[in-house]
Amino acid sequence: MRTVYLDNNATTQIAPEVREAMLPFLTDLWGNPSSMHTFGGQVKKYIETAREQVAALIGAADPQEITFTSCGSESNNLAIRGGAEAMDKPPHIITSKVEHAAVSGPCHYLEDRGFRLTKLDVDELGRLDLDTLQRDLRAGRNLTSLMWANNETGVVFPVGLIGEMVHEAGGVFHTDAVQAVGKIPMKISELPVDMLSLSGHKIHAPKGVAAIYIRRGTKVKPLVLGGHQERGRRAGTENVPYIVGLGVACNLAAKHLEEESTRVKAMRDRLEAGILESCPGSRVNGDTKGRLPNTTNISFDYIEGEAIILMLDDRGICASTGSACASGSLEPSHVLRAMNVAGVSVHGSIRFSLSTYNTDEDVDAVLTELPKIVKRLRELSPFVS
Ligand code: PLP
Repeated sequence: MRTVYLDNNATTQIAPEVREAMLPFLTDLWGNPSSMHTFGGQVKKYIETAREQVAALIGAADPQEITFTSCGSESNNLAIRGGAEAMDKPPHIITSKVEHAAVSGPCHYLEDRGFRLTKLDVDELGRLDLDTLQRDLRAGRNLTSLMWANNETGVVFPVGLIGEMVHEAGGVFHTDAVQAVGKIPMKISELPVDMLSLSGHKIHAPKGVAAIYIRRGTKVKPLVLGGHQERGRRAGTENVPYIVGLGVACNLAAKHLEEESTRVKAMRDRLEAGILESCPGSRVNGDTKGRLPNTTNISFDYIEGEAIILMLDDRGICASTGSACASGSLEPSHVLRAMNVAGVSVHGSIRFSLSTYNTDEDVDAVLTELPKIVKRLRELSPFVS
């Protein structure tokens, strides 16, 4: 059975070009980049090339503003914990109710240690309440962490506007851009953003490599202490093969940006329109005017999202209910709850997330199978008479 993979916000396949580029560093070029001898030292330049490639994708002015880490979660922890601990006085931590656990986790960690924490509301379309943000910013020096794009709904926050507000209030602004990087164009050097997190496995690099952009002049205390790698920001011998892979993935993502906003978006739109038309009692969650081009989150009244996922899985189709990290729990998604999604549909939400590797046949497969699944589950539902 052919696999139809529509869960690219959870993770992506490794691009063949990325795999190829990594292989020499898993076979012959295995030296330690910190070594004095030529055999080790020669790999250092490949790390610097990767740094330039990451910087180019996000439009950073200087590759030295890029630090390699192990995952998006580590980048978020470094920004939030490391950022807060580097400030003269404990800052007011401001975030939202729809962040990924990799942001809310470190925010709660700081709250437990006495930092003041505010979590902003979103409206029913998943948009941030900017008036409340403005009010909260007045309450003293802050470190604000707000995501660029939501992993469950794809809703995009206005990071330029937010950054301006944070800076006006004398704060530091971090954005979790793990879902935005590679899907929408960005030029971080021209935006009021101090730190930005991205992750390799969301952009066709392997799991286990990521990066954080730290604008020149922004203070961050390292979390991993030890050697002087990454200019003292993150100790540990560099994961050379994966860093090289991340660099190539960023290069590819830059080339595919145009395709994300055209072909991928067109497939997403056809999928969404087809589902809404063929499945009664279905609705889109999130602001359809300000969304990533690859994501749609759709609720189906009176049925369980988990049941739909399992039946799609039987037919070789991979999608997800809410965030992958939240699966395994039957709690409705915290994102949809924050958006006040109605009780009849909050349990029946499915996220489809596409990539440039998807085809029109993948969309056709869902449009053939999903209406039958929804019809069958509605027949079994005790809530539908
Ligand atoms: N932030 C967002 C918005 C995410 O979607 C994810 C992963 O799903 C992460 C952070 C965590 O990234 P990683 O899996 O690389 O730790």
